[in-house]
Amino acid sequence: MKNYKFSVLERFLDYVKIDTTADPESISFPSSEKQKDLAQLLVQELQAMGVHDALMDEYGYVYATIESNIASDSVPVICFCAHIDTAPDCSGTNVRPIVHRNFNGAPIILPDDPTQVITVEEHPYLKTKIGEDIVTASGLTLLGADDKAGVAIIMDFANFLISHPEVKHGKIRLLFTPDEEVGRGVEHLNMEKLGADYGYTLDGGVVGSIEDESFSADAVKITIHGISAHPGYAKNKMVNSIKVAAEIIDTLPKEEWSPETTEKKEGFVHPTSIQGGLEETTLNFIVRDHLTSNLAIHEDRLRSIVETIVSNYNGVTYSFEISEQYRNMKEVIATVPFVTEYAAEAMRKVGLAPKVSSIRGGTDGSKLSFMGLPCPNIFTGEMAIHSRHEYVCVQDMENAVKTMVELVQIWVEHKSN
Ligand SMILES: [Zn+2]
Repeated sequence: MKNYKFSVLERFLDYVKIDTTADPESISFPSSEKQKDLAQLLVQELQAMGVHDALMDEYGYVYATIESNIASDSVPVICFCAHIDTAPDCSGTNVRPIVHRNFNGAPIILPDDPTQVITVEEHPYLKTKIGEDIVTASGLTLLGADDKAGVAIIMDFANFLISHPEVKHGKIRLLFTPDEEVGRGVEHLNMEKLGADYGYTLDGGVVGSIEDESFSADAVKITIHGISAHPGYAKNKMVNSIKVAAEIIDTLPKEEWSPETTEKKEGFVHPTSIQGGLEETTLNFIVRDHLTSNLAIHEDRLRSIVETIVSNYNGVTYSFEISEQYRNMKEVIATVPFVTEYAAEAMRKVGLAPKVSSIRGGTDGSKLSFMGLPCPNIFTGEMAIHSRHEYVCVQDMENAVKTMVELVQIWVEHKSN
């Protein structure tokens, strides 16, 4: 790719200016119609490149094909996927990206709100980027590198492949999804239409990182049924479900078993919301662990805390409902370890040091893996995501494009007959 003029930065700057904030309150799909503005632009750009089957469906998914240019038909169909929405936690309206060329390590003061300062002390990864080019927002919004860096990388990769037919590859499917940030990214995805064998999401951070392991995740909904009575005549009758629920929360361990006290491979139980009144109070929890079998252990422990407290109150009952959210993609990817290995091999070819790790969260890839598309996550350079300090390094994005170009050739080397 010696003389290739990358288009990833230019594309990225265009995409982040389009507001695609997902809406967690919405029940429609996509959760915000404006996400389709970016989807439509991607279709136009793909069509202009010569990717003629590029289309956006009614839900805002973009599907496109780069046809195989080899004789062998034994090379699996590879999907590259990124999400077009941005997180609702921080404004994504009127994003004004700023390119800081040849970053010198000094604090970056964001001009539209000078109290927003990005420093290498707070963001140690930036220390490794001195001399490179950094893109930030202007202080009032997030940047949207999560995941428009991934979108721009895939688009530049497509542009390179189309203009370099000498680079040999099998059939490639491109996929852009809405609503990843509100946990609904694959809700209306048509796997049959996608027609891919293996996939990669481009939604990781640090250069060289590959994530092929996520949390396994359940939700637990506990409803406490108290006993109501007129407050003036409630003596020895009333049991207030709010107080029972509060006692449950207060009984949770304070030194362990929570997001704020765990790291690495430790699981946790975490109350996310509480609603209620005298008669009925509902507690919502999320339960997380890398080991799926540990989820039941966490849930049993939570249930026994609830049971112990509720049994102290005559006539009070409760329900305890567990629902599955997603599972650790490693369970699927471990059966096809070469998917991760090829990505690492591609990174080494580019001159990067690949680092395979696990995430304390889930990705679209966690769900995709269980839907039949084993799908590790590859770096894009997006950092400090979901915040006004979000940034991305241009050279990281370019390295991701290079990695993808190597990766599709590695699949041909290993799998063609
Ligand atoms: Zn993301």
